[in-house]
Amino acid sequence: TARVVLSVRVAPMSGERTLVLFFDTTEAKRLEETRRDFVANISHELKTPIGAIGLLSETIQDCADEPEHVVTFAEKLQRESARLASLVQDIIELSRVQNGAALASSELVDVDDIVSEAIDRCRIEAESRGLTIVAVPTPQVSVVGDRALLTTAIRNLIDNAIRYSNPGGRVSIGVSRHEGEVRIAVVDQGAGIPDEQKDRVFERFYRGDDARTRDKGGSGLGLSIVKHVAADHGGRVMLWSEAGKGSTFTFIVPDVTPAVQNIEEEEAHE
Ligand code: ADP
Repeated sequence: TARVVLSVRVAPMSGERTLVLFFDTTEAKRLEETRRDFVANISHELKTPIGAIGLLSETIQDCADEPEHVVTFAEKLQRESARLASLVQDIIELSRVQNGAALASSELVDVDDIVSEAIDRCRIEAESRGLTIVAVPTPQVSVVGDRALLTTAIRNLIDNAIRYSNPGGRVSIGVSRHEGEVRIAVVDQGAGIPDEQKDRVFERFYRGDDARTRDKGGSGLGLSIVKHVAADHGGRVMLWSEAGKGSTFTFIVPDVTPAVQNIEEEEAHE
């Protein structure tokens, strides 16, 4: 434990007393270390696509009179720059949410709206992998929060379910209300997550071996963003997973549906 100890002598004339103050700097040190690690990780992660983009553009110049090579390398260049753009986007999003800063906007949000929007943004990717997305509509369930962040969180979960599924599989999204909470479950039939990785997957830049070796795309920041968005909304994320059977990530936030229904009923009576 790192401590700063301050000793003060009080009233030296009449019987000496010493006041000792302890300031625990452990948390401040930990935060500073986390910040330093984060910056080091970001630099490392950015260097890979930036380096690749530099090399690829040089290669394109070198083979300018071989059109078929130019096309191949230009496609690779495009992929690397898309990867860089999405990494930067994730870094910006994470730095917005990880400090638990006040939400940029807070409004009444219909859960079906955010789920449909999140699915729409993932549909092309799902189709290109031959996956089906199934969502059972659950009308009139409401939460309070930042619509854009909530949509991003659900989209990240669906995006993972798609990327870690086998071709032809199914991704289901279910919304339920339970003891004052709204639960949005994203269920896949993919390879699942080994027990020893279950806590680590929410860490920044953590990527499973399979994700790295098979290059599933992604920055290793997706679940970290989801966790922080849930916490910023007074909620949490739960993970169930069994090797070979698939994973279920459940995004849980406070339910404000009853309050909304009461207001609507009152308005109907007026
Ligand atoms: P990534 O960009 O690598 O997907 P995430 O933070 O979204 O980063 O996820 C961290 C790791 O958790 C992934 O690299 C992967 O190993 C694992 N993971 C996340 N979602 C799933 C899922 N639905 N099925 C299996 N593994 C998953």
